Amino acid sequence: MSAPKVKYTKIFIDNNWVDARSGKTFDTYNPHDGSVIAKVAEGDKADIDLAVAAAKRAFHRNSEWRLMDAAERCKVINKFGDLLLRDAEYLAQLESYNNGMVLNFARHFIAMNVDHIRYIASLADKIQGDTIPARGDLFTYTLKQPIGVCGLILPWNGPIVMFTWKVCAALAAGCTVVVKPAEQTPLTALALAALLAEAGVPPGVVNVVPGFGPGAGSSLTHHPDVAKISFTGSVEVGKLIQQAAGASNLKRVTLELGGKSPLVIMDDADLNKAVPYAAQAIFSHQGQICIAASRLFVHSKIYDEFVKKAVEYAKTIKIGNPCEPTTQHGPQVDTEMMTKILGYIEKGKKEGAKLLAGGKRVGNTGCYIEPTVFADVTDDMTIAKEEIFGPVQSILKFDTLEEVIDRANNTNYGLAAGIFTNNVENVLQFSKHVEAGTVWVNTYMEFGPQAPFGGFKESGIGRENGINGVEAYLEVKTVAINMSKKL
Ligand code: ADP
Repeated sequence: MSAPKVKYTKIFIDNNWVDARSGKTFDTYNPHDGSVIAKVAEGDKADIDLAVAAAKRAFHRNSEWRLMDAAERCKVINKFGDLLLRDAEYLAQLESYNNGMVLNFARHFIAMNVDHIRYIASLADKIQGDTIPARGDLFTYTLKQPIGVCGLILPWNGPIVMFTWKVCAALAAGCTVVVKPAEQTPLTALALAALLAEAGVPPGVVNVVPGFGPGAGSSLTHHPDVAKISFTGSVEVGKLIQQAAGASNLKRVTLELGGKSPLVIMDDADLNKAVPYAAQAIFSHQGQICIAASRLFVHSKIYDEFVKKAVEYAKTIKIGNPCEPTTQHGPQVDTEMMTKILGYIEKGKKEGAKLLAGGKRVGNTGCYIEPTVFADVTDDMTIAKEEIFGPVQSILKFDTLEEVIDRANNTNYGLAAGIFTNNVENVLQFSKHVEAGTVWVNTYMEFGPQAPFGGFKESGIGRENGINGVEAYLEVKTVAINMSKKL
């Protein structure tokens, strides 16, 4: 595959492409070989100020956007979906090129995203309040109104998906936005901004400012005219964002943070199904997924057989250039992440886990790590406690459901969980007691736009997707009308 053409590298404000006020740029890379793809405008506080001002103008009560019918907003978002479909192959290639995402995975995500857009668009004209039976002489009802200017801070692991989830929910609610893509992967967000303008989103409604966290990101979170931040990323930065909200204007925050998600394989599970699911739950996208099943608890009765099959499976995964259609396993996003993951693998070995597959960097160029399997992992080991965000399957042993529920919950995270079993009692007890925002049964990592997504505990605050996801961009206003005049 030849390299996809990079069309946009500047800041997008008011539907125009502009340089950073400082004139600065930063390099963005191809993780396959470390080569520089393009120089991208480096936004900072001055650019965030301009973007927020544009978003504020676009949110004015008399603006084109605020006066637009909800049904028209629905059409504009749907048109964006049409354009995404039109450019799907180009965007999949660009995602693969800038992020290292395996091409087929990027294609699959984009197809899913189009469904997502259709669903969110359909909610735009169904935002309605209640009439409330209050006092007889007080007619009371609620209005659900867009919060205002929203700052959307994106991670690098799913640039197109994260952009779409956040931007479309905010637009369905009638908000205006300033997007700050991750510094590692700015290119697809800029390409999507161009599609939104083509779809008919008025100037200022969607603005995109590439740049770094402490500069552009932090300016957005502290900005007094930003009413809400939706963030996906690390727990550390999530905490900084909540502090910034408190220190500035108490802006609302939705945080989708990390995970150390447990996947439990009971002794009655169908291993022909459980083994590949468990592998895909940790190796998909090279483990760079917040819901990755990074603690795999396997029942002692089937432990040895499961481990043997898991190792065999990991060894079949085809590693290679992510842009090649047959590749199953591409590079990590950058050298920093690769080094961090290799450090975790070393810790796993040192702390006594049994390395049965992988464990090494592949070659000397690019950021490739072999799919790695550790058995005999115990709860106190670093690889069982910390989020690795890499292709490292850690297999732990358990004896009873009660025990595994307690161990699964013994973490500050609570994003996702899964169980493979054919026993309904196991399903009901596990799904009731496990502390996680999403619980999968006899499957893993399956999403629909209709279902809310988010975390318990330090895995986040609030929910994205579903009706809850749009409501996160709305304020509820109660109106009480005096009707005491007697007729
Ligand atoms: P990761 O550790 O996976 O790279 P981060 O949480 O560091 O994830 O980054 C996720 C997003 O948050 C990126 O867009 C990054 O630029 C942004 N970010 C990082 N630091 C800050 C900060 N202090 N304030 C706001 N955004 C930030």
